[in-house]
Amino acid sequence: MAINRPLIHEIADRTWLVNELGCNNMYILEGDKSSLVIDAGMGYCDFRKIVENITQKPYEVAITHAHPDHVGMIHQFDRICINKKEMGEMFDFCTRKDFDLEEFHWNNRQHIGFWEAWECTEDMINRGDKKTEIVYIDEGYEFDLGGRKVSSWYLPGHSPGHMYYIDSGSRIAFTGDCVNHNNGTHCHAASTHIRYLQKLMDQHGKLYDRIFTGHSTYCGSLDVFSHDISVVRNLIEAHRSLLRGDAKYDSVRNHIHPEMPPIQVVVYGSEIPDAPGGGGRGRGDPRVTPNVPEKLWEDGEEHIIP
Ligand SMILES: [Zn+2]
Repeated sequence: MAINRPLIHEIADRTWLVNELGCNNMYILEGDKSSLVIDAGMGYCDFRKIVENITQKPYEVAITHAHPDHVGMIHQFDRICINKKEMGEMFDFCTRKDFDLEEFHWNNRQHIGFWEAWECTEDMINRGDKKTEIVYIDEGYEFDLGGRKVSSWYLPGHSPGHMYYIDSGSRIAFTGDCVNHNNGTHCHAASTHIRYLQKLMDQHGKLYDRIFTGHSTYCGSLDVFSHDISVVRNLIEAHRSLLRGDAKYDSVRNHIHPEMPPIQVVVYGSEIPDAPGGGGRGRGDPRVTPNVPEKLWEDGEEHIIP
């Protein structure tokens, strides 16, 4: 006996978190006129039906980034909104029709703990088969739901066109994977990444009070928590320590595939016991472990730490 359907939680007025098998979160926001869905999960439920049971209003689907746990069910929907920089091989791979259980396990077991609580069988797979229209959005794009507005912001790093969304109604920032422990700086130098993170930090208390990420806590928990702002602050400090030259490094093995070579990460913040699912990735974990970026500074940039 285990859970084989998404868990739905109300996290603010007319604001729902839908968690798919302990891994990724999708969100549904309802306004007076229309609704907004944020992200489209992996593909193990009839997500469209869940959305349309919760809201009877017309809705758009906004995507944070094109990874398999965020765009897996886009073909259940008529239209999605995404940053153009997310389109490419990764998008094609994640939205293809032949996604299978094997891949689900490979992807999912890296993220999830509590496998005793979840059940996943092949008949649950529902990737959808619509010819989905793609609308490109960028920073500044606004979804006006009637009585609440959701603004779109750009924070590349985890992926090249990663967007986050701030809702004026619930004062929640929906950040996908751009500021959780799994923070990558593959797209630019550490100095540039600090500037992007600082933008999100500066909005705290002004445009939003709480953060909900693409993963409840960072996965591996059955509970739903907002994401502690110290994670954003510590990510900024982790990148600054790299630029100062006093960063602490650690090599981390994948807890699901310990046979894989360890990767180098920067460690910042105080250690807390590892969350189930591994890696000290739990809720509001003040310890961050971003991957070491390829570049510290942009070419020709003056070396002044932002
Ligand atoms: Zn994710």
